[in-house]
Formats: sequence, C-alpha cells, structure tokens
Amino acid sequence: MQTTTESKIKETTQGAWNKRPLIVSGPCSAESEEQLVQTAQLLAATGMVDMLRAGIWKPRTRPGMFEGIGTKGLPWLQQAKKITGLPVTVEVATAKQVEDALHFDVDVLWVGARTTVNPFSVQEVADVLRGVDVPVLIKNPVNPDIELWMGAVERILKAGIKQVGLIHRGFSTFGNTDFRNSPMWHLAIEMKLRNPGMIMLCDPSHICGRRDTLMEVSQKAIDLDYDGLMIESHIDPDKAWSDAKQQVTPERLKEMLQTIIWRKEDTNSVEFHTALEKLRQQINHLDDELMQLLGQRMKIAEQIGRYKRDNNITILQTNRWNSIIEKAFKKGEGLGLSKEFITKYFDAVHMESINRQKKVMDE
Ligand code: PEP
Ligand code: MN
Repeated sequence: MQTTTESKIKETTQGAWNKRPLIVSGPCSAESEEQLVQTAQLLAATGMVDMLRAGIWKPRTRPGMFEGIGTKGLPWLQQAKKITGLPVTVEVATAKQVEDALHFDVDVLWVGARTTVNPFSVQEVADVLRGVDVPVLIKNPVNPDIELWMGAVERILKAGIKQVGLIHRGFSTFGNTDFRNSPMWHLAIEMKLRNPGMIMLCDPSHICGRRDTLMEVSQKAIDLDYDGLMIESHIDPDKAWSDAKQQVTPERLKEMLQTIIWRKEDTNSVEFHTALEKLRQQINHLDDELMQLLGQRMKIAEQIGRYKRDNNITILQTNRWNSIIEKAFKKGEGLGLSKEFITKYFDAVHMESINRQKKVMDE
C-alpha cells in the first residue's frame, strides 16, 4: 500500500507532467549527496522548477570519461526529493537500471539519445516496463532519423506506458557548427505534428553545449509551442564532472526563466481571433492561388517534356536551371525571401518538374 508521502509525490508528478511550462532541471551527473541535495534545494527555492534531473549512469561517447556514480547515487536522489518535494527523473538504458531506478522511487524515467538510437536497448527498457505505471520521456536519437525516434516511442507505448513525452536535444553533425548538437528544428516540429497531445520538452543544454546561447534556444523552443525545458544546472558549474561548459547555477537558471517570454497556444481575446482570422483568410487565398499556379507550371513542364522527347533532348538542362536560380535569388532579395528558402522551394519545384517530364518521356 502507498504511504501518504508516496501518494503525495505521485500527485506532484501528475501535476508536474500536466503543467505548462514544465521545467526540469538539475545536474548533468549526480556527483555527491551534498552536490545533489544543495542543487535541488536551490532549484526548489527558485519556485520555478517542477522536476529534478540527475544522470546516475552516464553514456559517455569515449571510455575514461566520468561514467556516472551508479546505483549508489539513487538514495541521494531520494533524499533530495524528500527534502524539496520535487519529483525526480533519471536516464535509464538497461533493464537493471530501470529496476534500480524504480526501486528507489524515481518518478519519471528518460531514455537518452544514445539509447533511442538502438532498438535492442529501447526494447529491453520497454520489456521491463510492461505493467509499470511510470511516465517516460524519450530524447531524440543522436542521428537525425525521425523514424528511430518514432520507433522508440512506439516500443514504449506498446509496453503499456500511458504517459510518454519527447525531449528534443539536437542531432550530431560532422565538423564544427555553432551548436554541440544541431537543433534541426524541422525534425522536432515534424515529430510534434506526428504525435499530437504528446508533451515535447527542449533540452537547450545539449543543443548548445555552452552557457551563452541557452537563452536564445530556449526562447525559440517556447516560441515554437514546446511544453517546457530540461536545463542542466549545478551549484558550481565549472567544477562539474560532466558537461561543465553548458551547466548554469540555479540562480542563473532563475534569471533565465524570468527573462524568457512565455507564450501560450491560445487566448480568449475576440479581437485577437478576429484579426487573426482575417489574416488567415488572406493566407488561405494566396495558398490557393499558389497551388493553381504550380499546377499550371507543371502542365507547361509536361509540354516541354513532350518537345524534349520528340527531339531526343535531355530533361536536365544545367545552364537553364542555374540561370533560373540566379534570377530567383536576385528577385527574392527584393521580396525579403531568404536564399535558403528560395533554394528549398526551387529544388522541390524542379524535382517535381523533372518527374513530370520523365513520365511524359516514358509514355
Ligand atoms: C544528459 O541529459 O545528460 C544526456 C546524457 O543527454 P543526451 O542523451 O541528450 O546526450
Ligand atoms: Mn549532460
């Protein structure tokens, strides 16, 4: 039977899960009981943090790095929860880790990026979760593969877990970029669209890999309708045993959370809805026109395809295409359209046009 304290924490977890924005914070790794409890106390004192995170087992890319304190850190987490009342979450990657975490009353489990990438590991975690009532957060895989992310979600859902959430922590890329893990926002947005009703948190710490850009990425996530943030914090970030560069003090975290402009998905204001509706009608109208024009454009491409077929001419005409793109860049500049957008748009149009011409040629 559950004791009163246990059921109280359970209620807090439910409350935290449904709260928006949901703020999860804590050190990258649990290092000592003092470090964990002190961080938790300072985070709780901000009044803005809903859940405490701490890595107990750390899946480090290279051996020899600090690989986590292991099971002995779980009672510290229990202690931090007892003192602060914050529900706690840890990363799990094996059946044994799930069992240990649940044994020590961890409230929410999370699957890390290096685990999501491996269906064997995700399945092992899913199998041991069968019949267990615990919320699970699933980070994106390290590589930009949305199907792997979906696969992990499906495996956990199939195990009967009802509360599943997503964490966007960015994707590995080769070479130097401004990010430790490139956000590739479009993939996270696609994942959000595929899983309506599933909460999506952003983990700016692992996206940025540094402190100075955390705010910018956090604000972008909130602007994109994310449900909350998971941000690493440490009482003495520079001395952290893992991910020192990206961790912030609980005080800095509070400042950040106070600076972010929190946006909501909807409002009751009639004025806002009327104005928005008018603009949306204009957008719908323009979208219709664009579709009509694209349809016409493709019909002309088919005619061209017929001429090329009859005269044995190749579909792809590199010079012609380069001159179209050059002209579009120039024109786009005046219209406020970025080169990146024009490239994507014309690439899509060009591919469709090539497919249509190929179809005509093969007739
Ligand atoms: C972490 O949250 O500390 C962690 C290891 O994250 P990820 O799985 O995103 O690398
Ligand atoms: Mn970390």
